[in-house]
Parts: sequence; structure tokens; C-alpha cells
Amino acid sequence: MLSMDPSAFVPHVAIFPFPAQGHVNSMLKVAQLLSLSNFHVSFLVTVDTHDRLLNHTDVLSRFGSEFHLQALPGGISLDEMNTRDGVGKLYDSVNTIAKPFLREFLAESPVTCVIADGILSMVADVAEEINLPIIYFRTISACAFWSYFSIPELLQAGELPLKGNGMDITLTKVKGMEDFLRGRDLPSFCRVSDLTSADFRLLSTETRQTPRARGLILNTFEDLEGPILSQIRTVCPNVYTIGPVHAHLKARLATKCTSSNSLWQEDESCINWLDTQPPKSVLYVSFGSIAGVTKEELLEFWYGLVNSDQNFLWVMRADLIIGQEGKHEIPVELEQGTKARGYMADWVPQEKVLAHRAIGGFLTHSGWNSTLESIVEGVPMICWPRFADQQVNSRFIGEVWKMGLDIKDTCDRDIIGKSIRNLMEKRRGEFLQRTEQMASMARRTVNEGGSSYINLDRLIQDIRLMCL
Ligand code: UDP
Repeated sequence: MLSMDPSAFVPHVAIFPFPAQGHVNSMLKVAQLLSLSNFHVSFLVTVDTHDRLLNHTDVLSRFGSEFHLQALPGGISLDEMNTRDGVGKLYDSVNTIAKPFLREFLAESPVTCVIADGILSMVADVAEEINLPIIYFRTISACAFWSYFSIPELLQAGELPLKGNGMDITLTKVKGMEDFLRGRDLPSFCRVSDLTSADFRLLSTETRQTPRARGLILNTFEDLEGPILSQIRTVCPNVYTIGPVHAHLKARLATKCTSSNSLWQEDESCINWLDTQPPKSVLYVSFGSIAGVTKEELLEFWYGLVNSDQNFLWVMRADLIIGQEGKHEIPVELEQGTKARGYMADWVPQEKVLAHRAIGGFLTHSGWNSTLESIVEGVPMICWPRFADQQVNSRFIGEVWKMGLDIKDTCDRDIIGKSIRNLMEKRRGEFLQRTEQMASMARRTVNEGGSSYINLDRLIQDIRLMCL
């Protein structure tokens, strides 16, 4: 019998992300990593995401002819989704409108395997219908994934819904987190007394379906989340930890910075401003692509920042303030301090910003991409989580990894100012020691011999074997 060499096969992988910035960014990096092994990749996105990628990135020129950016109808515009309600609307529209087109595309294309965003089980439904192997990719941390997965156990034990002082009680039913996970550290959708909310059902139910897939790809690394990954492997044995994917792509391309996957126009002028600042002197402030703040919260941050006497670069998206279009005027009493020490931008090249020598800290909403980008550059964080996985991430950053301060559920100018001074001055040495140690582990894991490097090769090999 002739033996087949799997490396002789050219697999065709269809990748389907949920069409929000953090999801598209990391899954497009996975697409690029696979195409470096000469895979054919069809990257399936909504029309809105398709047009944004063409307008704001060089996506087509960085791949060869083996890459195909496929627009599927469905999905509202990202301009309509800066609220939690908006995320639900986007989810519903992707699920209902895109499904028939997805079925048609997968049935008619010579696809070897589908890599689907793990919150879109409808993709698994379609893949199973036509007998295609499916692997899930989750854009969240292993710790957040595991807390979502453990919700039925929390319900069964009566630890959910949270009662009375439940926000401050340490929970016992998320295995591996019994010593430090409080009610307030659970994903935000657990905070309601009525646990029938769409978010709650969606994230808990979708996550529980993960074992349907042949494998689970996570954008994390073993040195960071090893103990929680061991828990996940008890229910999903085939986990590929290949992250941080942006650093992994940089390592495999041997480049200093990867191309941007931004869905908005980036303002590069902030880099010129950073060039004029002393090393590690600037606090970078951003709440990601979706989270909003009230006018009152914005003012508390503004006072806290200016009163901290530190330099800051602040991403103030046009839709940042809930219920208000456009920018907020600088309060008169803060004008001088803002102009002297601050720089505002609508949207920045974040990976480049965090890698800049002038950055000394990151005031973040603790989205997982932002967290990983900060970890890779060794930048300590102040965490002010807003929703979904962010509450869990911030607990790990503050309590477990000790890479920053978790100030969740407070929004007071004095606390913000004090936290900034602690991060940038008083406790700077202590935080930098931890973050630099983790940054070097992150770099090691994506280079030859590292666990993420080995796991990506295993994923590539497993997909090739599906061609046989
Ligand atoms: N980002 C960016 N420019 C900005 C702010 C954010 O490029 O001005 C990117 C950031 O690098 C990250 C993504 O947007 O990759 C945000 O993803 P994350 O998971 O941190 O948060 P989300 O937006 O999903 O809440």
C-alpha cells in the first residue's frame, strides 16, 4: 500500500468570526498563520466587515491568491452596536440572515474544515449537516471560557443567581478558581436576578456546546493559563493553545509589527506625539471597540487622569459616551492639564502604541485582545471592566497574575488618580517585574520549541490529515 504524506495536501479552511473588532482581528491573524503553511483560506464576514477591512487595511495584499475574503449578507453595521443591546442584535442578524448563504457556500466550495467562532453554534449546525469537520476558536481567555462553561454548576449549587451580598462572596463551583473568584468577578451577564436574559442564555448555552467540535483553539498560552487549561481539558480534551496570536504571527513572519486588522481608520499622529515623550511616562487609556461610558463616568476619569499628573494618550471614540454622539468638550478647569499632558485620538494603531517605549501603563476595559497585547509588551494595567469576559480577566490580572490593579465597580476620580500614581510611580517596580517576566514567557511560547509554536504545528498537521 502507498503511504500518503500529509504535507502533500493543500487544505482549504473556511473561517467564520463573529463580526466584531476583537473577533475579526484575532481570527484574521489565525487565517494568516494558516496561510503561511500554504493553506487555502476563505474568510467569511458580513458585508459591513468586508467593506471596512477593504477600506482600512491592506488585507488582500498581505495574502496571496490562496486567500479569499467572502462577504455574506447579514449583520447590522458596527456603527449601530456600541451597546450591549447592539451586540445581541448583531448576533441575531448573523444567525438568521447569514445561515442560508453559509450553507450554500460550504456545500459548493471544496472546504476541508471549518474554523468557527465558538459563539456561533449555527455554523456547527450547518457544518454537521453537510458532514464537514469543525474546530472552534474562542476569542476570550481560558479563564473566562471556563467561567462561562461552569454556569450550570453555579446554578445547580444555588450560587447563581447572586443573592444579597453575593457580589463579594467567594464562589466554590468554578473549579480551579475556588480561592479568589467572587460574584463580581463573574461575567457581567450573571449580575441580573432574572437569568433568562438573552446574553445569559447565549453565552452559557453556546459555550456548553464546545465539545461538539473536534478541537478548541484558544488565543492564550500554557504558561499564562495552565491550571485553568487543565480544567478545560477534562471536558474538551483537544485544546490548541496557539496565542498570543498577534505575537505568534510576528514571530513566524520575523517582523516587528503585524499589519493592522482595524475596522476603523487609525490615527497615526499619536505615534509622533509618543516619540516626543520620555520612556515609560505615558498612560494609554482605551475601553476597546464596544464599551461605552456615561457622561458622569467620563468626567471622573478625566479628573482622575489630569489630577494624577501623568502624561496620557486617550482613545475617545466618537461613540464612547452612551447616548451622545461626538466628542465631549474639555471641562474648562481641566483644559490646561489636558493640553499639557494629554493627547486624544478617535482610534489608534493599538499594537504599535503598546509597543512604544513611551508607554508605561494601560488603563483598559480588560478585553482579551487588549490584555494580550499589553502582556506581550510588558505593560502593567489598571482594569476597569465593563461587560462579558472582562470582569473575569481583570480579576486574573489583579489577583492571580499580579500584573496590575483591578478597580472594577468603582468610578471615583480620587481612586482613579491614586491607582494611576500607584501603577506609574509608587508600585511601578513591582508591577514591571511581573509584566516583564510574563512578556518574556509570551515571546518564548511563540518561538520554535515553545508550546504555542508546537500547538500550531499540531493544528496544521491535524487539518492536513483531514484531507486524507
Ligand atoms: N484597538 C485598536 N485601536 C484602538 C482601540 C482598540 O486597534 O484605538 C484594537 C485592539 O488592539 C484590540 C481590539 O481593538 O485588538 C479590541 O479588542 P478587545 O478584545 O480588547 O476588546 P473589545 O473591543 O472586543 O471589547
